[in-house]
Amino acid sequence: MLTSSTQPARSARPLLPDAACLTLDGISIQNGVIVIQARTLPRVALCPCCGHGAERVHSRYCRTLLDLPWQGNAVQVVLSVRKLFCDNRGCPRRLFAERVPSVAQRYARASKLACAGQPAWPTPWAS
Ligand SMILES: [Zn+2]
Repeated sequence: MLTSSTQPARSARPLLPDAACLTLDGISIQNGVIVIQARTLPRVALCPCCGHGAERVHSRYCRTLLDLPWQGNAVQVVLSVRKLFCDNRGCPRRLFAERVPSVAQRYARASKLACAGQPAWPTPWAS
């Protein structure tokens, strides 16, 4: 049973779009929308400019992604991703945002699964 608790159950981990690179921080229901809070696991991210591996974190920010509905309820994934320093001195890019292509395309507002041939869902934040 899904409750309004933000404490993730260990068994809820398979709910993540890509449990191999994400960790679940919480699940809640806000105004009828199921909100899944997750963050990327600390790991080496590749600079999109030079391909150099980066681990030095500048900051984090949240991406809000619409996911497929569950039992008629809209689902949002609030994904905390890192901004990292590229320490390759030959690279023109100093900072880059971590990408999670298994979850969502760059700049996407919906998860990869929600974008894959699915009809446009009403966005819970639009009105
Ligand atoms: Zn780089």
